[in-house]
Parts: sequence; structure tokens; C-alpha cells
Amino acid sequence: MAGYTGDIGQAAVPKQRAKQLWKHTTVRRHIHPALRSALAEMAPGLERCMYCGDNQGTDIDHFEPVRLNPLRTFDWHNHLLACSLCNSHLKRDQFPFADDDKPLLIDPTSEDPAPHLHLSLAAGAYIDLTDRGDATIKVFDLNRKILVRGRLNAYRITPLLLDKWRTAFEKDDLAEAEAYAETIWEQPTADVVYAMFHQALTPGAEDIFADASETLALLRDQVIRTGLLGTC
Ligand SMILES: [Zn+2]
Repeated sequence: MAGYTGDIGQAAVPKQRAKQLWKHTTVRRHIHPALRSALAEMAPGLERCMYCGDNQGTDIDHFEPVRLNPLRTFDWHNHLLACSLCNSHLKRDQFPFADDDKPLLIDPTSEDPAPHLHLSLAAGAYIDLTDRGDATIKVFDLNRKILVRGRLNAYRITPLLLDKWRTAFEKDDLAEAEAYAETIWEQPTADVVYAMFHQALTPGAEDIFADASETLALLRDQVIRTGLLGTC
């Protein structure tokens, strides 16, 4: 891909050349499928969109838009797997900058969103902790109704699956336990599962899970944490 980047760098209008090359038949036939399958391996759950975690990731998104930085059109670190809603309808060419000229959007492949975004499990909605969190929620409409509903469903169903996993593991039925583990991690909006495990160990956990003490016990269970997270 370095050859294409060199070509773009030498073009009279790099932005135009970048768009032309990206849409070229050879690139579409040979590079796009390879990129898409490499990204699918890294995507959450079953090839889910790296932004919303809900829809299937169908598009290769340029995190930094081609329009702004044509030299990153063929930069692997600038490629993300996104659904067409997040990519083509919501983000489009949006790429806001802070006053210090640093990008505001959080790159889900290289940055930890935790300092910027808090998931309210009870509400199924993200709360911004910083300007970057605010911009990311707005650009991707992360609290759209269908995502909130999906997160609340994941929050309700995950304790049942954790309990099933625990029972299968205790019976030494490892195939059954593995099947439940896949169901837990492959469900859409699996960001909820990560948030549940994370928030169960935070100082405010008793308040967060005030009406769900059994869920809290499952999330703190060392056998479950080791089996599903690989850590206590
Ligand atoms: Zn999406």
C-alpha cells in the first residue's frame, strides 16, 4: 500500500487521486476484501461495527477522512470496520478538532474510551466525561434509541448467561461452558459486558448494582472472571 501512498503524495490534487485510487477496480477487488477480513478479526463480537458495536461491520472507514488527509488513505492504522449507518450516514466526513488541534473523536482501535465515556448500565446510555466523549457520542449518535434498547437487553440477559456458564463449568461440561462464553461475547453491544465486569470492581459498585446483588456476585466471582476474562 506504500506505493499507492507515494502516488497520492506526488499527485497535483492528492485528495482527488486518493479517492480515485481507493475506488479503482484493482483496489476494490484485491485490497478491500483483504482489509475487510483482517479488520473483521479484530472487530468485537461477530464482525460488529467498531463504533456502535451493534450492526454488522460492512464498510472500511477511514478514521481520519480522505478529504482531510489523503496520505492516510492506504494507512492500515487509519482503517476501521464500521456499519454503513455509522460510516456513511452519521460520521461521513466529520472529524472535529479541539482548540489544541488534536482530534476529538476516540479511535476505538488504539485508544481506551474509559477516561472519556461512561456507560450507565441502568440507562443503557453513554455519558460523556470529556469533550472527546461528547464529540464521539454526538458524531456517532451513540445514544440512539435502538442502541439503548440493545444495551438494556444485554444488561438483562448477561447475568442469566453467566449463571449458565458457571453451572456448565462446575459440571465440567467444558463444551457447554464454551458455547455460553461465545454467546456472551458474540452478542451485539458486548461493550455492556465489558462495562459490567469493569464496574463490578469500582468503589461505587454496590450503588450501581443496588437492585441486582446476584448480578454483582456473578460479576465478582473469581471462577467466572478467570474463565471469561482470563483475569481475576
Ligand atoms: Zn455502527
